[in-house]
Amino acid sequence: MAKKTSKKKTAKKSSKKSAAKKPAKKSAKKTAKKAGAKKSAKKSAQKKSTKKKGVRTHAASAGSKKKTVKKVGKKKGAKARGKKVVPGKMVYYFGALKTEGDRSMKELIGGKGANLADMTSIGLPVPPGFTVTTETCKKYNDAGGRMPKGLMHEVTKQMQVLERETGKTFGSESDPLLVSVRSGAAVSMPGMMDTILNLGLTDRSVEGLAELTGNMRFAYDAYRRLINMFGDVVMGVHHHLFEQAFDAVKSKYHAELDTDVPAEGLVELCDRYKEVYRKAVGDEFPQNPFKQLELAVEAVFKSWMSDKAKSYRRIEGITGLPGTAVNVQTMVFGNMGDDCGTGVAFTRNPSTGENKFYGEFLINAQGEDVVAGIRTPKPVDEMPKWNKKMHSELMSIKKKLELHYKDMQDIEFTIEKGKLYMLQTRTGKRTGAAAVKLACDMVKEKLITEKEAILRIPAGDLTQLLLPSFSETQKDIATVLAKGLPASPGAAVGKPAFTANEAVERAHAGEKVILVRKETSPEDVDGMHSAAGILTSTGGMTSHAAVVARGWGKCCVAGAGAIHIDEKSGTFEVGGQKYGREDVISIDGSTGQVMEGAIATREPELSGDFAKVMKWADKYRTLGVRTNADTPADAQRARDFGAQGIGLTRTEHMFFEGDRITAMRMMILSESKEQREENLATLLPYQKGDFYGLFKAMRGLPVTIRLLDPPLHEFLPHDDKAIAEVAKGLGFSVDKVRQRVSMLHESNPMMGHRGCRLAITYPEILDMQVKAITEAAIECANEGVKVHPEIMIPLVGTRRELAILREEAIEVIARTKAEHDFKKKLDIKVGTMIEIPRAALTADEIAEVADFFSFGTNDLTQLTFGYSRDDVNGFLPDYIERGVLDEDPFQSLDQTGTGQLVEMAVKKGRKTNKGIKLGICGEHGGDPKSVHFCHRVGLDYVSCSPFRVPIARLAAAQAALMD
Ligand code: PEP
Ligand code: MG
Repeated sequence: MAKKTSKKKTAKKSSKKSAAKKPAKKSAKKTAKKAGAKKSAKKSAQKKSTKKKGVRTHAASAGSKKKTVKKVGKKKGAKARGKKVVPGKMVYYFGALKTEGDRSMKELIGGKGANLADMTSIGLPVPPGFTVTTETCKKYNDAGGRMPKGLMHEVTKQMQVLERETGKTFGSESDPLLVSVRSGAAVSMPGMMDTILNLGLTDRSVEGLAELTGNMRFAYDAYRRLINMFGDVVMGVHHHLFEQAFDAVKSKYHAELDTDVPAEGLVELCDRYKEVYRKAVGDEFPQNPFKQLELAVEAVFKSWMSDKAKSYRRIEGITGLPGTAVNVQTMVFGNMGDDCGTGVAFTRNPSTGENKFYGEFLINAQGEDVVAGIRTPKPVDEMPKWNKKMHSELMSIKKKLELHYKDMQDIEFTIEKGKLYMLQTRTGKRTGAAAVKLACDMVKEKLITEKEAILRIPAGDLTQLLLPSFSETQKDIATVLAKGLPASPGAAVGKPAFTANEAVERAHAGEKVILVRKETSPEDVDGMHSAAGILTSTGGMTSHAAVVARGWGKCCVAGAGAIHIDEKSGTFEVGGQKYGREDVISIDGSTGQVMEGAIATREPELSGDFAKVMKWADKYRTLGVRTNADTPADAQRARDFGAQGIGLTRTEHMFFEGDRITAMRMMILSESKEQREENLATLLPYQKGDFYGLFKAMRGLPVTIRLLDPPLHEFLPHDDKAIAEVAKGLGFSVDKVRQRVSMLHESNPMMGHRGCRLAITYPEILDMQVKAITEAAIECANEGVKVHPEIMIPLVGTRRELAILREEAIEVIARTKAEHDFKKKLDIKVGTMIEIPRAALTADEIAEVADFFSFGTNDLTQLTFGYSRDDVNGFLPDYIERGVLDEDPFQSLDQTGTGQLVEMAVKKGRKTNKGIKLGICGEHGGDPKSVHFCHRVGLDYVSCSPFRVPIARLAAAQAALMD
């Protein structure tokens, strides 16, 4: 709900600041290529806006990931870290001669290292190597960047084992052993540090390699790559200096592509590269391979503390890890000829979950060529045409990996002269749809149990299954204009409309519009409803636009600060470009992206697997799941999604439609109690009809109805034109209306005359609403429809507030029953919201006069932090970017602070009222992490918007299973 304040928004400030940020370093050529295809003005606008806002977005969407990380981070002791852990040991070998690690040691030897060891142990073809532990990295960083004593001694000893196993010698002039050096933390951190390949090549060993392979071009190509990567990654030499040198050689040899440069050109290039290196570093390129190795290991250690890595960990919520491991592995070459190749693949389709090997490969190429997008890879399906044996080997590896890991894997492989090598395996990232299908299929294949299947699906990812989404391939090439908060998921395409009325009119005329507003207020609901999607430039995750849109399942991007709206001229400006009523835009409510043009969408397909997962979830969860719904249609939708009742009906949303707003305004502008009662009587039939509809939709399930909550001025017009219209409609003078409006103005309306305070001042409002609830319940009961209304009194802070209002409500119920001569029992409960810290602190007293508590964690968060929920977006991005907060506390419950109040109120409430029913109806009720918290502190149910009901059901089951 929007509680307006007069505070100036600070979005401008934040967008300006973000513009000053340096663009992220373009490491992959692919990025550069993609960016180059876009108009430069827009490109920079995108960079400016995504760089900063992206921080929040990622943080917001990382719920399930964070848990994994924290679990890893929390594991302590040798037992949890694998049986093979040897105290003080810094380097672990993997290969045919010995394998010292396994997959239980991820924390110590990183995900990549653990899986390399594991794959070796199950007999897969992995080039041998060794892993320097994450704790060694910690030692290095703790010592202010000093290599731990004895490390290089251990490395040298393991290198000797590697030499024995491969029959090659590190730095040899005849048959040199070459290695790759890669980082690898316990949790995958893609892009944290680039890989260094071909390490061990020197001026002398490169000649040996050329002779041994009979391929001079190959040897010098490997060497130039090493000097470039080592220079760039280890010594910080700017990549463009190497590119310049390469261009000069290319032009000298009239070569268009890198691959056109002849062997002697590459020999010359190595000399030029060494010159670039010498000039930039002030020293020669190291000719001692151990020196190369030491510097490379050190660079990986350092990279753990780089700004890039620190930001990544903060964004993804990765905490508690000591550092990164360093993997040193024998090089294998996919670029030694046409019987060589390299590829990446998923053991099943990561987008649909279909059990079909899915990937691509390149003949005669190195892994980085696939990533860099220099050549177009072929689908793995085409591999048999090239090499049948390799393909069938890959297929049997797929089987072996899935049997071993019992999950879909994301792999990297290289084929060197007809021999297949596995370079990496990890659990593959997947879409929500794929997660559901994979889990169900794997239960069917008896790879995993039902319980494991439930735990494996990230609850938040179910959203993708319930709403239309943008086609990923189309999105990849879209121009992103700005990035806001992913306020309400879904995909919407349309032309901007700048006022609610305009949206209604143009939508009625058959146009698809996106309502573009600075922020929305309850007056805008018609326009919001008519629009295909909503885009606001200010406001947070609990702003009016966000809450209302989520309730409807309508796509909404909120707080896109880079967008500057000029309502008058019907345009908005972003990145120096203007967009008007005829320009189509696409907004992605799942990522917060605002894109130019019409991006193709796909409708959700709810498969039988989805229903199966929901059934499993219901079997294991103990927490109830209700919905926040204001209309019978929403209630029905939520019921279809499995809601077990309504946990919050915001009655204020019922006063805007058609004639109701006039009656409401008449009531607010009334000068006496009698006048107010008269106008309330006009509203009563509407209210009764609303409640009747909800009761019937929920047929026998509990329905919590909250009495009027917002400050009254939210229902009044504010600009001159609207004031004049209302005055005319109500038969008052303009001055009089203006005077009343200004009288009702409050400096801090969120802490003003709202909630139960309204009912204390105007008992007749409570009277009308309770009467409407009772009459609707009587009517249903008379028709044989079972009803369980729960009257919820908002914003209570003292026992006496609730005691007085409860007594009044009970009196109205009794009176209404008598008026209708209804003698049967009506099950109507009276309870309150806990949304003020004082209510939590005195919950034992309040519980004495409450049948239930529902935690209003939107207001509770607001009042605990002292952050205005509508204005928080002015500074929250800075708070998250600078690590003051890990995430938006309005999205995911702040368990350490606000959570304490909830936990305390649960305990205190149950102490004085054992049977009290406890729920939550703040936005957190649909956030998986917060659902886990609610389970842990013993709430009876969570309540969330209809589209989040399946998410909450799954999260509740996961919480129960993890207990
Ligand atoms: C809350 O404060 O958590 C709540 C549900 O009420 P509202 O968002 O309507 O203030
Ligand atoms: Mg509230």
